[in-house]
Amino acid sequence: MLRSRFQFPTYSDVDASRVQTDGRAKPCVYLAGNSLGLMPSRSKELIQEEIAVWSTRAVLGHFSSHPHGRGWVRFPNHIEPLLAELVGANEKEVACMSTLTTNLHLMMDSFYKPTSERYKILCEAKAFPSDQYAFASQAVAHGLDPAQAVLEMKPRKGEFYLREEDILDTIEREGSTIAIVLFSGVQYYTGQYFPIEPITRKAKEKGCICGWDLAHAVGNLPLSLHGWDVDFAVWCTYKYLNSGPGGIAGLYVHDKWNEVLRPKFAGWWGHDPSTRFQMPPTFSPIIGAQGFQQSNPSVLACASLLGSLQVFKEAGMMVPLRERSIVLTGLLEKLLSESKYFVASGDLAQEDVANPNLNPSFTIITPRDPKSRGAQLSLLFLPVGSGLMMKVFNVLTSFGVIGDERDPDVIRLAPTPLYNDEEDCKQAARSLEIAFQEILGQ
Ligand SMILES: *Cc1c(COP(=O)(O)O)cnc(C)c1O
Repeated sequence: MLRSRFQFPTYSDVDASRVQTDGRAKPCVYLAGNSLGLMPSRSKELIQEEIAVWSTRAVLGHFSSHPHGRGWVRFPNHIEPLLAELVGANEKEVACMSTLTTNLHLMMDSFYKPTSERYKILCEAKAFPSDQYAFASQAVAHGLDPAQAVLEMKPRKGEFYLREEDILDTIEREGSTIAIVLFSGVQYYTGQYFPIEPITRKAKEKGCICGWDLAHAVGNLPLSLHGWDVDFAVWCTYKYLNSGPGGIAGLYVHDKWNEVLRPKFAGWWGHDPSTRFQMPPTFSPIIGAQGFQQSNPSVLACASLLGSLQVFKEAGMMVPLRERSIVLTGLLEKLLSESKYFVASGDLAQEDVANPNLNPSFTIITPRDPKSRGAQLSLLFLPVGSGLMMKVFNVLTSFGVIGDERDPDVIRLAPTPLYNDEEDCKQAARSLEIAFQEILGQ
C-alpha cells in the first residue's frame, strides 16, 4: 500500500466539524478517487521541477539541455510505456493527448462510418452525459436521427444494471445494423463493469467496430486492450489515475489499423518527430495512435500524470492493486450491508424506488459479483426523491468522509487500493449509521 505517497485533505481542510483532532492534521477518509484521484507527492515534485526548468531555461527546456533528461519535445515518451502497460497495449498503440471527449470525437470520426444498413451506435442507457452528447452529435453529423441511430440498452424491468447475456444477445440480434459498439468500461453511476473481452469478441463476430470509454476503468481494473482485440479506447486520467483536475487524457488504437487508418484532422504533433522541427510543408503522420496528436501537450499536465504512473509502477501495476481492491470493496460492502438501514437490491424492484411508503433506507445498486465491478459501490437512498441522500452526504462530510453524490439519489464510495485502507471502510460505514440515526431522530 502506498498511502504515504499521496497528499490527503485533512479534517480541518474540509471543515469536518464533527471530528475531534486535538489540533493535529489528520487525513480525511477519502473515498472519491473514482471522481478525482488524490495528488501523488511525486506529481507535485515533478511539476515543481518543470516549473524550475521553465523559469531557469525557458525555451531551452524543450531540448536535450533539460536538467532532468525530460526535454519537453519528447515528454510524452516517458509516459507512453507506462500507459501501455496499464492498458495492455504496445507503446505505439497509445497516445497521451488532449481530453477524453475530444479524443472520443476523434475516434468516432475515424471509426463511425454509417451506411444505410449498418448505422447504429450501441451503448448503455444513461451513459455519462458527455458520451450521450457525443453519440447524438456524431449521428447528426452523418445526417442521421439520434433516436434511430443511438441504440441504448436498459436493464430488465425491476433490475438495476444490465445483464451481460442481454448485451451479447442484443449484439447477436441487431449486429448487422450496428456500426459501432461503444460502452463505458465501468458505468459511472452504477459502478457496473461491462466485461470488455466477451463484448468485444461478440461485436467482432458480427462485423461491428468495438470501442470503449475507459474513464472509470483505467487504473481500476487490469486491462488487456490489444489482446482483447479492442479497436479503440479513450480515457481521462484525473479519476483513478490521479493526474489532477482536467489532466491530459489517453487514447488507444489497435495496431491492426496501422495500414489503413490515417488521422483526418492533422496537426504538427502527429507528424513524424524525426522531421517535425524541420517544419516540412506536408504532413507525414506517426503510424499508430500518436499520429492523432494535434498540438504539443501541456508539460505540467504530463508531469503530473507521469508522477502518478510512477506510483502505479512502484505498486506493481494493476494485478496486485486489483487483488487489494477486491478485498477493500468487499469489506466496505459487507460493513454497509450489516447496517439496520440496508435493503438488498434483490429485495427491491427498480420501479418502486420512489414509492413514498418505503422506509428511509439505502441499497447498493452495484453488482455484488466482484467480477462485475471495480472499486466503486453506488449507494441509492430510498425513497428516491425524498432528499435523504443529500442529508446523509452532508453528515458524512461533517465526519470527514468524502464520497461523491450523483443525482438521482446516489452516493458513490470507491476505496482506492493505492491509498485507502480497511480503517477508511470502517469509518465510512460507522459514519453512515450515525447519519441515519441522527436524520431519523433515533
Ligand atoms: C469522467 C467522464 C467523462 C468526462 O469527460 P471529459 O472530456 O474528461 O470532461 C466522460 N465520459 C465518461 C464515461 C466519464 O466517466
